[in-house]
Amino acid sequence: MPLKVHPDIASLSPYVPGKPIEELQREFGLARVIKLASNENPLGPSPKALAALSEGSATLHRYPDGGAFRLREALADRWKVTLDQVILGNGSDEILGLLARTFLAPGDEAIMADQTFVIYKMEVTAAHGTPVIVPLKQWRHDLPAMADAITDRTRLLFLCNPNNPTGTMVSADEVEQLLARVPAHVVVVLDEAYFEYVRSRQFPDSMAYVKQGRNVIVLRTFSKIYGLAGLRIGYGVTTAEIANFLNRLRPPFNANSLAQRAALAALGDDEHVVRSRVVNEAGMGQVVKGLTDLGFAPIPSEANFVYVDIRRDGRKVFDAMLREGIIIRHIEGSMVRVTIGLEEENMEFLAVFKRVIHSQ
Ligand SMILES: *Cc1c(COP(=O)(O)O)cnc(C)c1O
Repeated sequence: MPLKVHPDIASLSPYVPGKPIEELQREFGLARVIKLASNENPLGPSPKALAALSEGSATLHRYPDGGAFRLREALADRWKVTLDQVILGNGSDEILGLLARTFLAPGDEAIMADQTFVIYKMEVTAAHGTPVIVPLKQWRHDLPAMADAITDRTRLLFLCNPNNPTGTMVSADEVEQLLARVPAHVVVVLDEAYFEYVRSRQFPDSMAYVKQGRNVIVLRTFSKIYGLAGLRIGYGVTTAEIANFLNRLRPPFNANSLAQRAALAALGDDEHVVRSRVVNEAGMGQVVKGLTDLGFAPIPSEANFVYVDIRRDGRKVFDAMLREGIIIRHIEGSMVRVTIGLEEENMEFLAVFKRVIHSQ
């Protein structure tokens, strides 16, 4: 029997994640691999999270707390919102899927940038919605053009800030001008996966928009600065009304018990967050200087990665670097994205990159 798959689903391609370290070791027989492909924290998880994990393993025969009371309470406390305004996801990726399935009927529109986080388009298409793509302007979200793209069919508007893969941000003023133009039937998704890395004072206080009762959801994650990508846990802060709708679709145990415990401990480890930020800032300076010295112009980034035009076939450079044990991310054409690592990882990246580009 021929399979019958909805054309929207058939049109999707499987997401290609950053290559895992072990896979590369197997393929090329490499002893040492440096992964600068998925914007992970090179310092690893907080020691407090690791301690919470070993304590939590004794009760793995129990289902998680489906309401994740302690973690949601800690988050509500941190952001000065009520418990019913906090929703957890199996990574914030899961919440993106919940948003698409909650708000999109077939043919409804969701506005997003090109380029931005590829999951938005995937989830919107999977929910039979119509992605409405607005090009970036000088590598930044073009918010006036995104507002112009709103129609009666628009239900979602995705704003990745700082943007992945460009690392650029939009300011509080710009976001407020956008929000002033957004009608009540549109939910604005403020995806702030890299929030804790941002240094600009112009960055919006997005939680304030939630507290003003606007139809926005702020997405944050424990996968990036908190160093818990492998556990899969992220969260959204939104109005109680939006959270209530999302909760109707949320699988009851989507945040597993170890993830809940580790996230709670990580949230209380400010020292680890501060250290991670300091290491990133120094590493960013190092990588930007290295690339600039080689004649490239990395796009100024507010996150823990840089996006750079390497002016040659990015795929070939990516492959050549892989063979030398360095995993970066080829995005498209001559554009690559490089996560900031530890000092010696950045040094090694720059040395190998220099060799590779001189042979291309
Ligand atoms: C990494 C990332 C996420 C978070 O993913 P998780 O599912 O929480 O691991 C969300 N949005 C963007 C833009 C990201 O880069």
